[in-house]
Amino acid sequence: MLLMERGHAWSRRRVSEPAPTGTTETSQDAGVCFSWFRFPSVCDGYLPKVGRLARLEDFMGKIAVYPGSFDPITFGHVDIVDRALECFDGVILAVAADTPKDALFNVNERVEMAKVALKDKPDVVVESFRGLLVNYVASAKATVILRGLRATSDFEYEFHMASTNKNLNQKIETLFMMANKDYFFVSSRTIKEVASMGGSVKGLVPECVERKLRERFEALRKKK
Ligand code: ADP
Repeated sequence: MLLMERGHAWSRRRVSEPAPTGTTETSQDAGVCFSWFRFPSVCDGYLPKVGRLARLEDFMGKIAVYPGSFDPITFGHVDIVDRALECFDGVILAVAADTPKDALFNVNERVEMAKVALKDKPDVVVESFRGLLVNYVASAKATVILRGLRATSDFEYEFHMASTNKNLNQKIETLFMMANKDYFFVSSRTIKEVASMGGSVKGLVPECVERKLRERFEALRKKK
């Protein structure tokens, strides 16, 4: 899926550009890749400011791009980011803008939840991307794609993707981190399954995700 065309309508805005009228964005927020204030329905109620996230243009040194669907972000993903920050100067969590067929959340929602989940990590940028991952990585001036490996079931797909991406751009390496023992069984898919049946996902996803899952499934149940 990392090779597919992805569509999104976001635009990058520099810190020097003024925030649109009627928003409360700070100058620091303005540098956060893509503008969260465009999606009030997602933000309403619980989204704090995300101004502590880094700006892409602030990054110096070694950057890793951590791509994925993040539908939604889990503590397994957050753990990979935390450990990557021990090895890299900055991490870009890159949300695939091309929504998978069975996605529960659209790309804007997935980006917003990731921003909230990672808001206290100053060396992390969250943005969406489209097109070939290797092109996105090169445009971010990074040379490392970071992926998490949970079990042997992840391996075949990851090996295939890493080899294909290497073939597309020799300069870009894919690095894998083993899943933390506390989260190796956590996947966005099972989280959605459990939440859809009213089960608890506490301790496996950030609070904002827990709440968003509850709201989404309640809304879906009412629709039926
Ligand atoms: P995909 O990119 O296949 O849609 P995800 O968005 O779910 O996958 O995850 C992005 C990356 O994070 C993948 O490399 C995936 O293997 C990894 N990952 C997902 N869940 C976990 C977890 N619980 N622990 C470690 N890595 C994980």
